[in-house]
Amino acid sequence: MRIDRRHFMALPGAALGASLLAAENTVPWHQKIRRVGQINMTEHDPVALNVEEWADYWASLKVDAVLVSVTGILAFYPTKIPYFRRAKYLGDRDFFGDCCAAAKKRGIHVIARMSPDLQWEEALQPHPEWFERDRDGNFVPHTEEPTLYRTCMYTTYFTEQIPAIMREVNSRYDVDGIFTNAWPPLGRLPVCYCEQCRRLPAAGTPAYWDRFNERTLYLWKLYDSIAKEKKPDNLYFANLGGGIRATPNLKLLEKVCYWFNCDNQGRGGDDTPMWVCAEQGRVCQSIMKGRTSTNVTGAYSTGAIRWRNVSKSPAEAQIWMDQTVASGMVPWYHFVGGEHGLGEDRRWQAPGRKYFNWIARHDKHFFNKRTIANLGVVIGQRTNLFYKSPAGNSVADHMNGLYYALLEGRFLFDFVHEDDLGEENLKKYSALLLPNTALLSDRQCGQLRAYVESGGSLLATFEASMYDERNRRRPDFGLADVFGIHRAGDVKGPNGNSFYARIERQHDILNGFTDTNLLPGAVYRLPVSPVDDPVLTVIPPYPAYPPELSYPRVPKTNEPAVVLRENGRSRLIYFPGDIERTMWRSGHTDLSRLLQNSVHWLLRGNTTVAVEGEGIVETFAWETQAGFAVHLLNYTNPNLHRGWVRRFYPISAQRVRMKLPAAAQIAKVELLRAETEIPFRQTSATLEFIVPKVSDYEVAAIIPK
Ligand SMILES: [Zn+2]
Repeated sequence: MRIDRRHFMALPGAALGASLLAAENTVPWHQKIRRVGQINMTEHDPVALNVEEWADYWASLKVDAVLVSVTGILAFYPTKIPYFRRAKYLGDRDFFGDCCAAAKKRGIHVIARMSPDLQWEEALQPHPEWFERDRDGNFVPHTEEPTLYRTCMYTTYFTEQIPAIMREVNSRYDVDGIFTNAWPPLGRLPVCYCEQCRRLPAAGTPAYWDRFNERTLYLWKLYDSIAKEKKPDNLYFANLGGGIRATPNLKLLEKVCYWFNCDNQGRGGDDTPMWVCAEQGRVCQSIMKGRTSTNVTGAYSTGAIRWRNVSKSPAEAQIWMDQTVASGMVPWYHFVGGEHGLGEDRRWQAPGRKYFNWIARHDKHFFNKRTIANLGVVIGQRTNLFYKSPAGNSVADHMNGLYYALLEGRFLFDFVHEDDLGEENLKKYSALLLPNTALLSDRQCGQLRAYVESGGSLLATFEASMYDERNRRRPDFGLADVFGIHRAGDVKGPNGNSFYARIERQHDILNGFTDTNLLPGAVYRLPVSPVDDPVLTVIPPYPAYPPELSYPRVPKTNEPAVVLRENGRSRLIYFPGDIERTMWRSGHTDLSRLLQNSVHWLLRGNTTVAVEGEGIVETFAWETQAGFAVHLLNYTNPNLHRGWVRRFYPISAQRVRMKLPAAAQIAKVELLRAETEIPFRQTSATLEFIVPKVSDYEVAAIIPK
């Protein structure tokens, strides 16, 4: 359990019982952090960065920890370890030691930052076994600096060289933890043909993933044990992130990971939606359940086109930190290099200070105990890593489409990891959504079956459960009996037009569709056998051009475009089309409405927090150390779907209605951004209040009597 030291310090002495103090003392420091800072050090910094100014800056942001570079590529202290090249401008200076001492003098924890991913050409000959190889056995040079080569995580570089550096740092400095940048790999699993890797199963297969996970777990435990050789409260943590496309099995890491850091620093001018930082927070919460998660906000120019030493739009950095905090993570503010003392571009510094000091004024409201959502979205890591979509490489589009529909419908939801479908974890959810969760094991299907039998509701789309956990295609759905569906053919695609859905009868999921017999179907579908009394049926695709030919050849079939079922309290919906992906690619508002109506039907109108008002808003609601908190992120912005945010466009009154999960009597509701109290009304377990305005972000802190 998280306990905020400052919160208890604020209480009168008499209220500070011995038991509370004892409980607080058992919580390690890294579970109480609220703010982290980093200037990523360059090899020029030993002569460029003003260490006192650096430490003063981070102290002024009230950070709990800073990252100081040890690295494995370049040494920032006079190391004695062979093939650990000293930074070019280090000379005889102990730059790491100076930074470490300056931070400690100001009461800031120090994390030693390492980078095990690259080594110099001078190590190729004495240590060829350290390096990644291509298919032809060649070393793999770094794309930007050709005298650096990629190392391989299955070699002694990771079990001998990196541990030697960690132990040397432990032996010399008062560090509080060790962090590895660039490992585990982000976004893609390694493909290597070195001697060790040739003995592994083929890259890109579930069998390879098992070995990758074993190795990741082994190295994590090894590094954590080294961190703890220094002090029992020290820890090791790695770079995770990657959102739903993380490479290691996050659920396996749960037992060894006490700090989930996300290298999810920001977007560029591409079409990445604004919410990917909040989405990352949902991934963290599904695994960490309240333990420390951090997200790095790059205050420099992030994106495919980069300027590492120039600031990004401050509004873009701010909405990233808003999402970090709202989704339950801790912000880690980041810039690269300290030329001329503390950077030639200093525009990022004041906004970071202002934001972190705002957080510090309200710390007690950001210690979250649990979310109070009753809707879960299953995240399938196996599907994201191994499923081959008929539409090409677009697995993430399923989540993007569903996410957007859930935001439009203002639903409160959690992510639920595919390996966490046990009764204990699912009991809080009235409904679960499976956005084309194609790979599901027999056990996972069994857990979902049990969830439905106990009254839970379920929505699935397209190829959900058509593959087992080894990516082997099943003859029929693993969840066939649960949804009452059977595969009746192979995946079908468009032909000019995508398929249409004919309305056969009225139903709650069709609310709002009047004056039409037809709805858009989806681009792809997996045909299923006819069902009794269908609500929507498939009209197969036909040419879109020439328009002379654009009319339905087969105007009516009995192939279902949706299968609905009620089973006691449980409600079930299966869409044979990839409707959430199609919604994302087409932008079609009917498909978003159909998804929203479907979720409303599953939940029977039972929402834990309802927020009414204009605008596109993402909502989080938490039970906190101090009571409850409702977080509203305002995405109403022309840069919602393409970075960067230039400015914010405030939205007016948002009416919040909340079912309090406990029999709490509320004393006050305080807006943390506006820093003002607002009126509220409580009727038994329902709390209502109006947030008059949201610029980028508002937090309604709800404080019980
Ligand atoms: Zn290898």
